[in-house]
Amino acid sequence: MNLKKLLFGLPSLLSVAFTLFICYIFYFNFIPLQVKKHGLASAWILGVIHTFLAIMTLWSLFKTMLSDPGNYMQVVQKLNKKHYERNNLISLPSNDLESSTQINNDINDHSSDSTDELDQTHGGSSQLDFDESIETVNTSTSSANQTVEQRSHRSKIAPKVDEKWQDQEDQIDQMFSEGCRSFIRFRYCHKCKQVKPPRTHHCSVCNQCVMRMDHHCPWVGNCVGVNNHKYFYNFLFYSFLGTSHAFIALFCAKNSINEFQRDILYMLAGVISLAFSISIGILFATHTFILMKNYSTIEMGGLMPKNPFSKGSIRANLEYTLGKDWRYWFIPIESPQRACDGYNHSVVPSY
Ligand SMILES: [Zn+2]
Ligand SMILES: [Zn+2]
Repeated sequence: MNLKKLLFGLPSLLSVAFTLFICYIFYFNFIPLQVKKHGLASAWILGVIHTFLAIMTLWSLFKTMLSDPGNYMQVVQKLNKKHYERNNLISLPSNDLESSTQINNDINDHSSDSTDELDQTHGGSSQLDFDESIETVNTSTSSANQTVEQRSHRSKIAPKVDEKWQDQEDQIDQMFSEGCRSFIRFRYCHKCKQVKPPRTHHCSVCNQCVMRMDHHCPWVGNCVGVNNHKYFYNFLFYSFLGTSHAFIALFCAKNSINEFQRDILYMLAGVISLAFSISIGILFATHTFILMKNYSTIEMGGLMPKNPFSKGSIRANLEYTLGKDWRYWFIPIESPQRACDGYNHSVVPSY
């Protein structure tokens, strides 16, 4: 873990500390007061509700904190490993980043070689310049000369390939509004030295490319991405309910503002609960909107009002992040039917 991530993660300790502090005041200050005023039954009911919300809040908080948000390099390594195993090529060390990058370059070289071979086979009259240059090659020249010749061949082919690709890109561009073009393209991450798929962004705190990145949250000490956005949403939901419930209970248990203010720690827990309830409530509403539209926080500005990643309905958009089975939407475990793998994104080219 890098130092920057560690420093940015410090507020997450405050999240845990605030939750435990509110619980402490609730159990050791509020519950005895409630028993004295309204009897054991109501104290039990409020205690059980608070315990449930506190457990769910901490559970979803730790799940968000400790989950991999969607490290794209790990996916690349797995895909490379599969590719090499399938083709009986050399085995890949699982955690060797440099090897992975090297192998990617190998694949790129390999694919460009195959493109060249294809062009040689199906070049036709358009490859006349290339054929002529090949004829001038003396077959007895050294391998170094052959390499030079191959390079000159590539330099002649490359502009044609680029032009073709440029045409394709221009056609795609015309289908989308200017605002969302950069979001639907594959781009290159100069820090990871890796092509990254649409919706993947490099987090400078975690120093990694995160798939379908939403934002880096210091309050959970982790990025929110494709793998843990559901847990983060669960955390917002339960912490909003928990802090609202705590504030109402703590405030209503006292007969007046003066009585509420008399006990400093009791009042502090009430004020913290209210402040968190309001701020988390706003965040929860924002993320509900985001998930209903299938945006991420990063994309929201660029893709509004029309989103090419939208699945067409609110239910389908919610399923994309929360999973296809709605019974798991508010349980901080991985949904058995994940809708999104993080790197395959379909777009609707009607905007
Ligand atoms: Zn990156
Ligand atoms: Zn991050």
